[in-house]
Amino acid sequence: MKPFWTQIFKRLAVLWPYVKWFIKFNLRDGFVSFLPNRNFMTETTSVTRTIVVTSGKGGVGKTTATANLGMSIARLGHRVALIDADIGLRNLDLLLGLENRILYTAMDILDGQCRLDQALIRDKRWKNLSLLSISKNRQRYNVTRKNMENLVTSISSLGYNFIIIDCPAGIDVGFINAISPAQEALIVTTPEITAIRDADRVAGLLEANGIYNTKLLVNRVRTDMIQKNDMMSVRDVQEMLGIPLLGAIPEDTHVIISTNRGEPLVLKKKLTLSGIAFENAARRLIGKQDYFIDLTSPYKGIFQKFQDIVFGDF
Ligand code: ADP
Ligand code: MG
Repeated sequence: MKPFWTQIFKRLAVLWPYVKWFIKFNLRDGFVSFLPNRNFMTETTSVTRTIVVTSGKGGVGKTTATANLGMSIARLGHRVALIDADIGLRNLDLLLGLENRILYTAMDILDGQCRLDQALIRDKRWKNLSLLSISKNRQRYNVTRKNMENLVTSISSLGYNFIIIDCPAGIDVGFINAISPAQEALIVTTPEITAIRDADRVAGLLEANGIYNTKLLVNRVRTDMIQKNDMMSVRDVQEMLGIPLLGAIPEDTHVIISTNRGEPLVLKKKLTLSGIAFENAARRLIGKQDYFIDLTSPYKGIFQKFQDIVFGDF
């Protein structure tokens, strides 16, 4: 007969993987989502938040941000519909790995060829995430502001909590159509002067169109270059634009890998720094977290994290 304590230890050792899993998830997720909430924790609030992701300049990371924020928010239990309003150069479907499943687009709904739910493609991994593409080809570019507003109203009546619109580059008719149904905007920029100027112009246009709730996402940040004074810091960018900061995403080669695989970064089992940064931004967007992750030393111990939360260091 083994001693009593040895037996107890042995029994508890069986539980150790679960304890580790619990600690890992809670550290990463800020003590909110330790349940494996695959599509079960779907919140049902009646108000739909419609957010347009825009930038002015192309290639700064709007589509990457839309896919990752959308996926993160869906994983946090909300119903999310993503709209790819970038008609000529649509690629949100590729980032989400849904390109082969698009049979109908919003143009087909407007032509009366299909119902809304047939064009809203559900993600297989997270069923509370859906994608609507406006059109498959550039020729059919005759969607109007009214059409966009009607589409968003119909989607929100299906009970979605978030509608996130991936805006095309530029400030022409595609931009105006994409922003018209939104109440909130997320301006994406890189820490380059050209992108910042375009972001500033877009911020003015958003205000002129009645969108005052605007937040900033600074993408492709390189802390090594900032330390050498070769790149503007996130704070500098934020002060130049005067828009509240939602988050900062580091430059990361995994973004390209995840794009090619059709799997958003935030789905990776072991998150890279950019994945953690996107998750952090998503939590801040839905009000579940208010601190920023520190891009220079992101992997903090539990006490440092606790200190950051309590003393608001970011
Ligand atoms: P947009 O929608 O604004 O045109 P995309 O999201 O398509 O921009 O991104 C443009 C390119 O930049 C893509 O090739 C993407 O892989 C790359 N990219 C975006 N964000 C990052 C990042 N944080 N690190 C590295 N590459 C990035
Ligand atoms: Mg894009």
